[in-house]
Amino acid sequence: MLDKKNFYINGVWVKPNSSEEIKVIDPATEQNCAVITLGNKADVDLAVSAAKDAYESWAFSSKDERIGLLEKLYENYKKRWADIAEAITLEMGAPKDFATKLQAGTGASHIKSFIRYLKNFEFERPLGEHAPNQRLIYEPKGVCALITPWNWPMNQVCLKVMPAIASGCTMVLKPSELAPLSSMILAEIIDEVKFPKGLFNLVNGDGATTGDALTSHPDINMISFTGSTRAGALISQNAARDFKRVSLELGGKGANIIFKDADPEAIERGALRCFRNSGQSCNAPTRMLVEKSMYDEAIERLKKYTESFEVGDPKKEGEHIGPVISETQYNKIQTLIQKGIDEGAKLVAGGTGKPEGLDKGYFVKPTVFADVNNDMEVARTEIFGPVLSVIPFETEEDAIKIANDTAYGLTNYIQTQDSKKVQRVARKLRSGMVDVNGAGIAVDAPFGGFKHSGIGREAGEHGLEEFLEVKAVGGWS
Ligand code: NAD
Repeated sequence: MLDKKNFYINGVWVKPNSSEEIKVIDPATEQNCAVITLGNKADVDLAVSAAKDAYESWAFSSKDERIGLLEKLYENYKKRWADIAEAITLEMGAPKDFATKLQAGTGASHIKSFIRYLKNFEFERPLGEHAPNQRLIYEPKGVCALITPWNWPMNQVCLKVMPAIASGCTMVLKPSELAPLSSMILAEIIDEVKFPKGLFNLVNGDGATTGDALTSHPDINMISFTGSTRAGALISQNAARDFKRVSLELGGKGANIIFKDADPEAIERGALRCFRNSGQSCNAPTRMLVEKSMYDEAIERLKKYTESFEVGDPKKEGEHIGPVISETQYNKIQTLIQKGIDEGAKLVAGGTGKPEGLDKGYFVKPTVFADVNNDMEVARTEIFGPVLSVIPFETEEDAIKIANDTAYGLTNYIQTQDSKKVQRVARKLRSGMVDVNGAGIAVDAPFGGFKHSGIGREAGEHGLEEFLEVKAVGGWS
């Protein structure tokens, strides 16, 4: 079992004040694979104080200094890429190839992309040609609390740590207690790169103790959080007391609208996007809306595709999916699948229980429900497992209405060859992102949601601006 009990504070690995431990469980074997410490208030105080001290000088660091640091970080990240991917496989069960190419890969892409945006960002600029002595100055928001979940660990950590560095903020990262190992490798890389002391600090722990101590700390100026809508609401309450800036990336229940003129791959591609990462992506298209005239054919194809969809050991190579993160998550998914059956949705493939031959580990059968009504729980709740709900629709207006009839608004999907229809529907969907015909959303496009899916945007220039306050100076000369 890996001993990962120390925290990274003020440029060194330190023994925590707390002696309470959390075991990290490999979801593929249900075995303990590492032990971390559950940070207490004293640990959080120490980390925040280090970040606050470091802010005094890092806030005024030059753009070149920040670029230099991020470039070194990128080089060292590439050297540890395989270790990061291996840690992700161990901590959250993403299969080897997926962990390497996508999970660890998106982390690298974000570092590279933030370097590019930092190079081009004008931290000081005139308001406009009409007002040459009106100056806008973009300043760092201050000491940041960065809190991340387990489903895309390096992607989410890099979406916060990199723009925080680039903007001149200092930070305390609290990664998910379920998947902290890849973040600890990032801290090792930061240590190798020799960041200024206190610029980046890492404290482990759960939400109720460590997360709460961090988000209610009076010296934290900004909270960037990714996780559940439940925790996002609690964090916002903590932030409101002293007007901390808050950026929230929360859940989703994306609709994938398949019109009858969709390309031939649209149905299978939609199912793959739902099942990928074992269904544990906030932007997964978990509600498939299919035009009535091709509905029966779509269900047949989904049955065939899902029944042959492979679930297996994440440590082996291949395009299969691994387990879900935890026993709690496994049980929640089982309850929701049963709920779908009880509510009268038609089980087309999968169902409750583990896939054949996978008795140990939190493996879930990829599952498809047909004849789902948008009021059923499987259509309303974010299941966070490989479960697809298929809903028929008659007209374009119906499809838009059903897609928007959800508390969430993260990513919706459109499949049609008719570009006029694409534009009409994309404009009407209430979500932060719309992905058309499998094109994908660029790594540096603004990532975030409407409604209960969150507040603010991550990635690219918008992600950098999240960490900046704008100051207007009149009479600049
Ligand atoms: P979670 O909210 O339970 O935990 C996320 C992080 O928040 C963890 O580090 C946890 O320790 C911490 N936390 C929990 N309660 C807290 C509190 N009261 N105060 C401070 N910190 C607290 O979520 P999860 O189960 O880890 O992740 C799954 C959820 O995250 C899903 O709902 C998913 O949709 C959402 N998610 C959203 C995005 C996005 O970008 N929109 C990305 C990934 C995951």
